Amino acid sequence: MEKTDSVGGRKARPKIDGGSAEYGEDVFSERAIRAFLPKGVASKLLATMREGKPLDPSIADAVADGMKDWAVGKGATHFTHWFQPLTGGTAEKHDAFLEPSGPAEAVQRFSGRNLIGGETDASSFPSGGLRSTFEARGYTAWDPTSPAFIKRHENGATLCIPTAFCSFTGDTLDMKTPLLRSIQAVTRATERLMRMFGQPKAHVEVTLGAEQEYFLIDRQFYLKRPDLLQAGRTVFGAAPAKHQQLEDHYFGAIRPRVLKFMTEVERRLWQLGIPAKTRHNEVAPAQFELAPMFEELNLACDHNMMVMEVLRQAAERNGLVCLLHEKPFEGVNGSGKHCNWSISYGGRNLLTPGDNPRENAIFLTVLMAVIRAIEMHADILRWAVAGAGNDHRLGANEAPPAIISVFLGDELNAVLEAIEKGQRGSGSGARGGKLRVGVDTLPALPRDTTDRNRTSPFAFTGNKFEFRAPGSSQNCSQSQMVLNTIVAESLEAICDRLDTMRGDFNDKLQALLTYEVKAHKRVIFSGDGYSPEWEKEAAKRGLPNLRDTMAALAPLKERRNIELFERQGVLSRTEMLSRWEIGIEDYRRRIRIEAEIALEIARSMVRPVVADEFSRLATALGQAKADGLKVGIRGLTALSSKLGAGLDDLHVKCDRLERSILRGDHAAQIGAMGALRKTVDRLEGLVDDSRWPLPKYREILFVY
Ligand code: ADP
Ligand code: MG
Repeated sequence: MEKTDSVGGRKARPKIDGGSAEYGEDVFSERAIRAFLPKGVASKLLATMREGKPLDPSIADAVADGMKDWAVGKGATHFTHWFQPLTGGTAEKHDAFLEPSGPAEAVQRFSGRNLIGGETDASSFPSGGLRSTFEARGYTAWDPTSPAFIKRHENGATLCIPTAFCSFTGDTLDMKTPLLRSIQAVTRATERLMRMFGQPKAHVEVTLGAEQEYFLIDRQFYLKRPDLLQAGRTVFGAAPAKHQQLEDHYFGAIRPRVLKFMTEVERRLWQLGIPAKTRHNEVAPAQFELAPMFEELNLACDHNMMVMEVLRQAAERNGLVCLLHEKPFEGVNGSGKHCNWSISYGGRNLLTPGDNPRENAIFLTVLMAVIRAIEMHADILRWAVAGAGNDHRLGANEAPPAIISVFLGDELNAVLEAIEKGQRGSGSGARGGKLRVGVDTLPALPRDTTDRNRTSPFAFTGNKFEFRAPGSSQNCSQSQMVLNTIVAESLEAICDRLDTMRGDFNDKLQALLTYEVKAHKRVIFSGDGYSPEWEKEAAKRGLPNLRDTMAALAPLKERRNIELFERQGVLSRTEMLSRWEIGIEDYRRRIRIEAEIALEIARSMVRPVVADEFSRLATALGQAKADGLKVGIRGLTALSSKLGAGLDDLHVKCDRLERSILRGDHAAQIGAMGALRKTVDRLEGLVDDSRWPLPKYREILFVY
């Protein structure tokens, strides 16, 4: 790419190119690096990026200068360290490249120091007590493994540098740092296992493909719903006659207005080098999904944060609003973010069974390590997806339950059963009941292209695990960080065991896997995860069922978990405890916001309309009686008594909610909101449609 080519050269490009011409044009990619940096500097930087090594400080100035030239050529006037605080979102503080160089003169400057690190006032980011108030400084540090990129707005652009964010004392205040540490942990453990299998040294890569679900609604409805504006979800709204019962939205033809939006989203993502691949209508009306091709985990997490931002912005430009809340509408499906996770070694996916006994043995060992990890650490994995929004979704009959189980499919179940039986001798193959690990080849496993069991929170889908519990608004980093850490622990434990055992390697492995299957198979479940029977069965098996955020936060304080995360070098004790505090605070605040907005809507929007309609009816009824009418009295009496009772009820429920708010009791707030909702939703069906103060589900949920 020529330097001049990138300056305003966008108009000249042919429009119909399938997106490939503009793919990655707003990323400081290898191509841009080679074009804008001196040769020696470029190759050093590329090595750093590839191997995740710290940047050689002697080239920082040259890298920064070239990056600035590239960015300015793209119209950027500012740069920012782009980071992911524990709010779950992203953060940025822009600085201009511009520096005065004399009276009425200025130059564009961006130094190596500006690039590598930044100091920022961190006092308003959640820290969970990690930072004392007198020490409010926070530091950002460049993550060269995730390339810099350009964010555009209508009249300009900003150079964004992905960074980690920590406190003065070095404690992490963000999502990225622990993720990077967890990738190191699982990489180390995988390398150790591969050495035991006699594999030559190779590059370990953890991969993620994050399927993003979202709702799209018309902006005019959004602006009339204070609950959506303030809390991201509707706290009132009666179910419409038709919503998702006919299942006619899923994979249905995409409406032109939505398709225009999607196309805009994808073009922007492609410019940012984000491999958006699949788009379709989801189950609920007004619900959609975007799935990218999988990528290296850290990059995929950054990219998902950008996907969410691009979705929101493109919606705005199209007179729409993109809702990423896990449950914006009661009674229809909520939105998740299925995280497809795998590990590869030297480019070979370790969760692919392979085609010889050795590859099969590696596959089974890694598979078993994951199963073991989930069985032993389901509680902390459940924490990773906890949050006020996801509470409405998990276990709500239409999303994976709060019980974390593993789905493997019939073929793999049979293989594990054969291993468990453990008899060696004649015959091979899974069905025969004897399988010699490292000697026999596995029966062919079908690669799952359909979701064979959508009710499982953690499903093996042929060459990866699909974790379906994460919520649509959540930063993938948290669940992926936990997954990496518990799998690292599991791989280490397996290696430790193999180390202490004696004898032939295949025999040791066989014995080990037999033991592990027996010890951890209770987490494997193939049935309907949504059924009430499963809840009972899971309780019998002793699997944790952490129903809400409060329960799901508790594992963060458990010694066992703290020790695990410390040992793997992912989170310190203080960092774990700070996450507990942040989680509780965030949860309480969100519930309170919902409670307050519900109360305000009920009192100042719903009640006046109901009271007015009731008094009109009462007057009409009095009049009708006075006039001695023979008809209409019954109808008016029935309706006015229903409305009158509703009005009284509304009064009582509002007072109850108010008391719970004053007491600061979030559990009572949730109960009171639910009760108030029933009353309001009933009234919605009684009051004159033209006077109901809120846009109804029937209107909002269908985008035209
Ligand atoms: P399906 O949802 O039908 O099982 P796909 O194979 O298309 O289908 O995968 C869904 C998501 O999983 C995509 O984002 C895809 O990129 C991702 N994925 C596929 N293979 C891997 C892998 N090895 N590691 C991580 N994610 C993967
Ligand atoms: Mg899928």
